[in-house]
Amino acid sequence: ERARDILEDAAERGRNRLGVEAMDLLDAYGIPTPQGNVVNSPGDAQQIARDIGDDVVMKIVSPDILHKSDIGGVEVGVAPEDVRDTFEDLVVRARNYQQDATILGVQVQEMVDLESGTETILGVNRDPQFGPLVLFGLGGIFVEVLEDTTVRVAPVSEPEATAMLDEIDSAPLLRGARGRDRVDESAIVETVQRLSQLVTDFPAILELDINPLVAAPDGATAVDLRLTID
Ligand code: ADP
Ligand code: MG
Repeated sequence: ERARDILEDAAERGRNRLGVEAMDLLDAYGIPTPQGNVVNSPGDAQQIARDIGDDVVMKIVSPDILHKSDIGGVEVGVAPEDVRDTFEDLVVRARNYQQDATILGVQVQEMVDLESGTETILGVNRDPQFGPLVLFGLGGIFVEVLEDTTVRVAPVSEPEATAMLDEIDSAPLLRGARGRDRVDESAIVETVQRLSQLVTDFPAILELDINPLVAAPDGATAVDLRLTID
């Protein structure tokens, strides 16, 4: 119901590209996301940071900016006293990048521990013949360099989602190789299924990327989101 509202609202506004402002879509399907919110003023940003009660991550929210960190649109580990200035900085950088960019606000987000976690990617593409394809692989530099990903047609069953995990070459990295922490594999399997349910329920979702989905010993958290709707 909540997911339907978000997608209908976007369609009414003529928006077909959505980003972190649509995180509630994942929330509605029980996919964990960091605590946080999109705000429109430095004061509101500070209030959210105060609620979070720790250093935060701040991201520009704009349909015209697809890769936020490429333009300096992501600040990780922002101390409470720097939140106001960082809000202004992010908006200035977005304007410098594109004068007339639509800026929906700044997302203030709880920090996710990347030390004990591994960045993975979970994506969806709609194939004209097979329907929605769900892709899983390691995130960050791994996804670009190694192209170590695997794909299934949605809806993805639990055994299939488990098989996806087994299939990628870097599976040992998720299982404690190289002194890394063993991640919660069942949380990834659960997330794959939930996402596959979301895109099965909403054919209007043409493309969707969670990059990264941070897989940690105690769960998996979707930290970034980008999607295209019909
Ligand atoms: P984009 O992909 O548009 O550049 P992201 O939201 O993915 O923006 O942020 C870029 C990178 O910043 C992520 O890949 C991750 O390494 C880091 N990051 C983003 N959000 C968080 C967070 N909440 N906690 C910790 N690290 C984060
Ligand atoms: Mg990202």
